[in-house]
Formats: sequence, C-alpha cells, structure tokens
Amino acid sequence: MNALSEEAVLDVLRRVADPDKGADIVSLGMVSGLIIRDGNVGFAIEVEPERGPRLEGLRQAAERAVEALPGVLSVTAVLTAESPHREAPRRGGDSPVSQNPTMARSAVAGVRAIVAVASGKGGVGKSTIAANLAVALKANGLKVAVLDADIYGPSVPRLLGVSGRRPASPDGKVLIPLESYGLALMSMGFLVDEETPMIWRGPMVMSALQQMLRSVLWGERDIMIVDMPPGTGDAQLTMAQQVPLSGAVIVSTPQDIALLDARRGLAMFQKVDVPVLGIVENMSYFVCPHCGERSDIFSHGGARREAERLGTEFLGEVPLDLEIRETSDSGHPIAIARPESPHALLFRQMARRIWEKVAGEGALLRPPPRIVIE
Ligand code: ADP
Repeated sequence: MNALSEEAVLDVLRRVADPDKGADIVSLGMVSGLIIRDGNVGFAIEVEPERGPRLEGLRQAAERAVEALPGVLSVTAVLTAESPHREAPRRGGDSPVSQNPTMARSAVAGVRAIVAVASGKGGVGKSTIAANLAVALKANGLKVAVLDADIYGPSVPRLLGVSGRRPASPDGKVLIPLESYGLALMSMGFLVDEETPMIWRGPMVMSALQQMLRSVLWGERDIMIVDMPPGTGDAQLTMAQQVPLSGAVIVSTPQDIALLDARRGLAMFQKVDVPVLGIVENMSYFVCPHCGERSDIFSHGGARREAERLGTEFLGEVPLDLEIRETSDSGHPIAIARPESPHALLFRQMARRIWEKVAGEGALLRPPPRIVIE
C-alpha cells in the first residue's frame, strides 16, 4: 500500500542544495536517520554546529521538497550538530548513509559507551533496573548519563526525583541535561508530547532521538544508560539501529522468560549486531517485608537457565521487594537511598560487571561494535 520509499525521499532531497557548499545535501552525506511511517517522514540534516543558526531555510526547503511527494502526510526535518567523531567521511552518492540512511550509526560526543536496558514487554521493572544500574555505576566511580527513550511511558525523571523539571536550552540549539544524583539525564518525554497519538509519533521520535544524541551537551561520560521502550517491535528495532550501542542488558521476570518474551529481546539485538551483555531477572523472588522470609512465588531461576541456554551471561536476580518499589516511586532509587542494603550491593555488582564487559572487551564507541552472539 505504501508507495513512499526511502529512495523517493532521497531523490527529492538530492534537489536541495547546501547554500555554502554548492552540492546537494544527500551527496554531501548530511541526511541521516530517515524514517517513513504511514506517510509520516522524519530525518535529520547534519550540519557543523556553527552553521546551524543560518540553515533554518535549508531545513524548511528540505521539508517542503519532501512534502510535495505524493503520499506524504507530514514531514519533520531537524538540524543536528554534525558529530566530530564520524567514522568514514560520508561523501558521494554511494556512501553507506545514502544507500541505507536508517542504518547510519553515529558516535555521541563525549560519551564513551552506550548500553541499552531493554525488555520483551512492559511492566517488568526495566526502568527501575535502568535507574538503579545508573546510580550504581555512578557509585562505582564512573561518569554516567541516562537517556530515557521509553516513549510509551517515560518514567526515569520520576525515578530519579526530577519529574516536572525541564532541560534548559540557552541558545535554542543545544540542550543542557538535567542533573540528578550526579547523573546527566534526558528524557524523550521532554521532546515528544505524550498526548500525541502514537501513529504520528514515529518520525518525531526518531528526530527527537537524533537530537538527544547530537544536540545535548552530555559532557564527558564513561557510560550512557538508555532506557528503551519495552517490546521488540519496529520502533524498538529502529531505535536499536539508530543508537550506537556498545551492548544491551535484558530485564525479564520469571513469567516473561516462560513466555519467551525475553528471548525476542535478545533476538532483536542480535539482528542489529549489538552484543547482549546479559540478562537480569527482576521480581525473581519475594521477600516478606515483615519476617524477611524469601518465597519463590514464580519459580525463579528461569532467567539463569535461559541465559545459559542462549550463551549469554546471567547478571543477577533482583527480588520483588516493597522497599524497591517505594524507593523507586519516591524518586530515591534503592542503590542510592540505602547504599548498605543487599539490593544496593547487588546493583553495584551488576554495574561493575556491565562496565567490565563494555570497557574490558574494548566495546567502546568509535567504531561501533559488530559482535554477533550465537
Ligand atoms: P517497566 O519499565 O518495565 O515498565 P517499571 O520499572 O516502571 O517497569 O516498574 C513497574 C512497577 O513495578 C513500578 O511501580 C516499580 O516500582 C515496580 N517494581 C519494579 N521492580 C520491582 C521490584 N524488584 N520490587 C518491587 N517493585 C518493583
């Protein structure tokens, strides 16, 4: 049904010239992150930061060119700061980017490694684990950034106690991340209105993601934790392609393992050549808040077996614990709120292992890893 192709969009963009360079923006390798969903088109135009203020006209011309194509319902083009760390120069019509723009990966200035925290479905505690791992990485002495990319329910600002606050943009071009517990934090929720119907959001989300990676002053960071949207659909797959990931951590509950959802998460990252660093089993067992007794209500341990079977690492099991819920929901993740608790120790252990796997294996950004786990 959808006749609108990437090639058709790139063809019209080849008629849009960079006013300073004289050549068209596709041949110059400036177009990235092209995404087409049901007639809604989004893409980024990469420009040197100092030229940004002068190129609003170029951005609008690019939008208008694509709008004129039959079948186009909406077009969102964003100017993004060109990354100083681009790998090969993307020049000429046969560059990898113009052949397959959605596959383009880009480094994020100042950030050494990016790790996704993902889950096969919602409600398994992915955001809770992501927030606690982030503060545990910080407690381990690393410089940490968190990107909340869970467009279906951005909750990391709340988990880190900064809900309601917005990032500042002194010049209208770059964004300064929020700071909480010494972490730099941004949420896609700041740029994509939650009220916007999901069907319209595809291109907006991709543009917002590009902006998060290119236009945010993250500062020097050892590691960025990305709280991914739950599930393994197109949106998640595209995101996994768009973010230059060093690895992924899969969060699952015992039931999730039983229903094979976690395995789909693993398969998704393998499809895009992102190494799965390991599986965390959340709500693994229940600790009674009164007597402290442990009950294995969901026959826990499935994640460990599944990880072994799939040849990935089992990173640890987090119990279903009232205190974990209360501390998360009140914006004080337990890994910070109760640093001496066994849970905090567990998160720091998992954080150490994740960093070891990322840094130790040389799986840093630039160039992105191409490791496939069998
Ligand atoms: P997801 O990101 O997978 O949708 P959340 O992290 O938002 O899930 O968690 C869903 C709910 O479960 C939250 O109220 C959270 O506090 C709670 N929760 C998550 N992990 C635990 C845990 N280990 N023990 C108790 N409650 C938890």
